[in-house]
Amino acid sequence: MEKEGRVPTVLVDMDDVLCGWADHFVSSRRRRFPHLPIADPGGRESFDLFTGFSEEDRAATLTVLDEPGFFAALKPVPGGVEAVERMVGAGIDVAVCTSPWMSNPTCASDKLRWVEEHLGADLSHSTVITRDKTRVVGDVLIDDKPEVTGRARPRWSLVRFTRHYNRLLAGPRIDDWSQWEDVLARVLLHRVEGR
Ligand SMILES: [Mg+2]
Repeated sequence: MEKEGRVPTVLVDMDDVLCGWADHFVSSRRRRFPHLPIADPGGRESFDLFTGFSEEDRAATLTVLDEPGFFAALKPVPGGVEAVERMVGAGIDVAVCTSPWMSNPTCASDKLRWVEEHLGADLSHSTVITRDKTRVVGDVLIDDKPEVTGRARPRWSLVRFTRHYNRLLAGPRIDDWSQWEDVLARVLLHRVEGR
C-alpha cells in the first residue's frame, strides 16, 4: 500500500462505518417508545435524523441518543475491526475520525472507550474526535455521511461507506468491509498519479 515511500493515512469514521449505530438506535427507540413507529435500520432515506419527524418523534430520538452509555454499547459493523487491523498490518497509518453527539454527556469518552475495547490502545490514542473533519490531515476518509464539509479544504479523498441515504452519489465507495483493499488501492494510486 505504500506509495512513493510515504505511508498513507486512512481516516475511518465510527457511526455506521465501524459501529452499528442505526441498529442500536432503532432497537433502543423501539424498546423505549414502542408506540412510535420508526423505519428499520438501513431504511433511512435522509442522513439527517430528524427529517419528517413530529415533535414527539424528535423528543423520543433525543431521549435515546442522549442516554449516557449509548455510544459505548454499539456493536461492531461486520468486518470493520478486521479491516482496520489488516490495514495496520499492511503498514497503513489508520486513525479513527469521528464527530461527537454533543448533547450526550458521555459520547466522546464512550467513543474512545469503544475504540480501545475493539481496536486497542494504539488506535484509541490516535483517535480524532472533531466536529470538523475537513481540518484533519489524511489521504482517505471513509465515511457514510453524504457530504463531509467544514471550514478547511479537505486534504483527503472521501470514500463513502454505502448506506441507503448515500447510495445514489457518485464517487468511490465501499459497500461492505470486504471491499476495502481493492477500493483503497485504486483511490491511493489515483492520488499518486494525480499529483
Ligand atoms: Mg458515520
